[in-house]
This record gives sequence, C-alpha cells and structure tokens, in this order.
Amino acid sequence: MTRKKIRIKKKNFTIFILIIILLITITYKGTNFIIKSVTNKDEKVEKKKKEKNIKRDKRLEELDNIDERISYFNKDYIDRYIDYKNKNKDLKIEDVILHVNIGIDNDYYTNTKKAVNLNKNTILVNKYNYLDKDYEPENLEKISIYYARSGMKLVSEAKSQYEAMAKQAAKEGLKLVATSSYRSYEYQEELYNNYAKRDGKEAADTYSGRPGYSEHQTGLAVDLYNGKELYTEFEKTKEFEWMQKNAHKYGFILRFPKDKEKLTGYEYESWHYRYVGEKIATYIHDNNLCFEEYYTMFIEVFK
Ligand SMILES: [Zn+2]
Repeated sequence: MTRKKIRIKKKNFTIFILIIILLITITYKGTNFIIKSVTNKDEKVEKKKKEKNIKRDKRLEELDNIDERISYFNKDYIDRYIDYKNKNKDLKIEDVILHVNIGIDNDYYTNTKKAVNLNKNTILVNKYNYLDKDYEPENLEKISIYYARSGMKLVSEAKSQYEAMAKQAAKEGLKLVATSSYRSYEYQEELYNNYAKRDGKEAADTYSGRPGYSEHQTGLAVDLYNGKELYTEFEKTKEFEWMQKNAHKYGFILRFPKDKEKLTGYEYESWHYRYVGEKIATYIHDNNLCFEEYYTMFIEVFK
C-alpha cells in the first residue's frame, strides 16, 4: 500500500466517523425533542387540571363548601347548583342540592333518565325517571277480591303487605279497596291519551303520568277507595285517617303529599300509596319526606 492510499483511507475513515457522530447527535436531539414535547403536553394537561380545580374550589366557596357537609353532593352538577341558587336566593343551600339532584331545575319530562333499581322496592319512577315500554315487574300477583276490584295486581311482597294492611283495617271496621294497581305501559298510554284528549295535555300532566313515567307500571303503587265514596274523596274518609296512622307499618307511603307537589311533580293525591318496605316507609312518615327526597338522600349513588 502506498502512503497516498493510506492517507485517502484515513480521510474516508474520518468522514465516516464524522457522519456517525452527526447521526448520533441528530437522533439524540430528535429523541430529546420528542420527550420534551410529550413532557410539555403532560405539563399542559396538569396545568389545565390545576386551573379547573382552582375554578371548582372558587365555585364551591360560592356554595359554602357544601360538598364537605352533604354526602349526596355531586360535583358534576356544580353549574346547575349555582344557576338554581341564583334563581332561588331564599332557598337553603341543602335544598338547592336536593332539588337539583331530584331534577326540578329542569322542566318535567326533560333531562330524563332510565329508572334503576328495577324489581326492587326502592325503584324511583317519576317525571325524570322512566321505564321502558316492555318493562313488566317480576312476581306480579292478583290481590284478593276482598280488598280490591277484580283483576288488580301488585308485586308479590307489596301484595301480601297490602292484604295484611287491609285485613287489619277490616278488623277495625274499615274498608280498603284497591281501585287501581299495576298498569302496563300500553294501558297507561291509553289512560293518558284519554285524559289529554278530555282536559288538554297540560292539565293531564298534573294528575296523570305519561306512559313509561307512571309509578303504577312498577307494580308497587295502589289507588284506594273505601268501596263507597269516589277515590278522589278518600281524604274525607275514616279509612284515610287510618292510613295516615298505619300505612307505614305495612311499608306503604302516601306518595304525593300536600306540601311536596313541586318535588313529586304531582298534585296532592290522598288515594295513591306506594310500597317501599317498612323501614323506609317509617323513616319517610316520621320525617315528613316525599320519596324523591328520601331517594336522593339515601338511595341514589353517584359514581
Ligand atoms: Zn295512582
């Protein structure tokens, strides 16, 4: 090998090394850049999160930090709470939370949800919580004709408790007769359409559930009369007086009380009772609640 050749080879080798160094540098910088931009993105997300939390904390201050005191506070509803509070300045903050959770910051039949707790005594069906067209409760049984018009059905447990209650009332010389109980979606649809035709939709909405939104579809609700007076006159009867004192002992509650129309979405109905089980019924009775209030405070869970 000549000296010249060796020199050329050396030169090539140096260029080769330089290229390798250059490539390594580029790769290193590139990787660094990618890592940095990923980290930057994370930081940005983190920053946004922090800002959101600060905003949330400020809003919570507006709500007197109610989240620490109230177990059923739902952080997803903060904006709704504040809007509702601004529109109802005299309302206690506890009631603001309660009302919004029930849903009444929205019009009836808007922002509706599919009912949960199907086939349980704790199911809530109202103007915000509906049942599917094909929902039929399990274990429907006919109520004895001693205590009901023929063909009336309730869910098994509610049915036995209803019969036990009516039997006790009979022992005390009173008569409880179920005039309406389980209603299918189709039947409710027919009823509602007839009412709407007769009185107009707006009026019908104050006393009849739209199909899917009637508690009668749960098989846990019963309308009573005393076998003589119209059911709409039930309030004036001794049977009503007896129910006021005793219904909860058998697990029934007056479902649409006088002072809770706004929360239940229904006018006062002295004849409509709902089975919830003895424990819950007793609590509701003793604390003068409606089922919407009890449900919101003790049954509904936010995930
Ligand atoms: Zn009813």
